[in-house]
Amino acid sequence: MNAPSDFSDNTEFTDETTTVADLKRLVVRFAEERDWGRFHTPKNLAASVAIEAAELLERFQWSTPEESFAVKDDPEALNAVAEEIADVASYLLNLCDKLGVDFASAFAAKMRKNAEKYPSERFRGVYGVDDPAYKNAQAQR
Ligand SMILES: [Mg+2]
Repeated sequence: MNAPSDFSDNTEFTDETTTVADLKRLVVRFAEERDWGRFHTPKNLAASVAIEAAELLERFQWSTPEESFAVKDDPEALNAVAEEIADVASYLLNLCDKLGVDFASAFAAKMRKNAEKYPSERFRGVYGVDDPAYKNAQAQR
């Protein structure tokens, strides 16, 4: 895909047709066109990821588990959540570009590491080592 330099031509982007590299190019070009690159230090981008993640979390603040799932059925709320997800992703991809991190490689490497740390036969149905169910299972070993 040849990513456009702006988003005014209504090009449709989907997960099936857009690569991570396409998204990185869009984010980088967006910043370059505004001369914002000089503000985008790795520290500032990492902070921005955390700030946007907090905005995402705010969308669910005080929600019951059921209410958090109900966002899926509320187009306005779902759009607001999707916008925060996009904000987080844009700063992450920008950070990857600045540091020369290949997102897909880093993602795959970390998932492999997680799979080794949390083998499914020991962690199926428990959230981690702090889960009482995990502790009980370990105590019975
Ligand atoms: Mg935001």
